[in-house]
Amino acid sequence: MPHAVSRLRTARLARSTQPLFAHGGFKSERCANCRLAPTHCMCALRPTLANTRAGVCLLMADIEPLKPTNTGWLVADVVPDTFAFSWSRTEPDPELLALLDDPQWQPYVVFPGQYVAPGRVVHDVAGHAEEKRPLFVLLDATWTEARKMFRRSPYLDRFPVLSLEAGQVSQYKLRRSGRDGHLCTSEVAALCMGLAGEPVAGQALEAYLAVFTHHYVQAKNQQPVAWEGAAHQRLREVLRGRGQAPCAGGSG
Ligand SMILES: [Zn+2]
Repeated sequence: MPHAVSRLRTARLARSTQPLFAHGGFKSERCANCRLAPTHCMCALRPTLANTRAGVCLLMADIEPLKPTNTGWLVADVVPDTFAFSWSRTEPDPELLALLDDPQWQPYVVFPGQYVAPGRVVHDVAGHAEEKRPLFVLLDATWTEARKMFRRSPYLDRFPVLSLEAGQVSQYKLRRSGRDGHLCTSEVAALCMGLAGEPVAGQALEAYLAVFTHHYVQAKNQQPVAWEGAAHQRLREVLRGRGQAPCAGGSG
C-alpha cells in the first residue's frame, strides 16, 4: 500500500485544478514511488526497518505533498509508523484528532522553544516516553507557514513542545558537512529518532536523504547515479547495522 504521504499527494492532486507540472522541477515522467525520473529511480534503495517504537505525524501545508523535493515523503519511506495529514486551521482531520487522543502515543510538537511559553518546552523525550510511545508532530511546511500553523492549531496546545537544542542541531550540521540553513523535515525527524533511542532509524533517515539528494541532483543535471558513491555506501553501512552511534556512550 502506498505510504501516508503518497496517499496525501494523490488526494491533493485529485482536488487540484492547477496542472501538475506547475510544482515540478522537471516535467518528464516520474516513478510513482520515489518521484524521480525512471532512470534515477531509487526504489531499490528504500530502507526496510523493523517497527520503530517512535512514530511521526506530519502536518503538511497545503501544497507540500506535491513538491518533488518534499522530504516528509522520505520519512514515510523509512519510519513504519508515519502519519500524514493536510493542515487545516478550521477543520482538522478527524483521524488526526483521533491519533492525538490515542493513549498509546505521547505526542510532542517539534518546534523552536523560543516561540513558546517556557513551561511547555522540553528538550528530551527521556522520562516522558517510558510508558507511551513518542509521536513526533512535525509541521512540514516553509518556516513562515510553520509559524502560522503552530499559532493556529488549538488542538496542539495541550502537548509538550520538543525544542531541538542548538547543540544538537549544530552537531548534526557538522556531520552533514557544514551545510547551513534550517533543517529539512527528514533531518528533524532523524534528530527526533535519535532522541527517542532509535539511532538506526535516525541514521537511516540521514543516509537516505543524502541518497535522495544525490539522485535528484544527478537527474536534474542529466548525469548518471554513482551507485558506489559515498552516499550509497553510507546507507548500506547503516542498514547492515554498522552505523556509527551518534554519541560515544557505547551500547553492547
Ligand atoms: Zn522509484
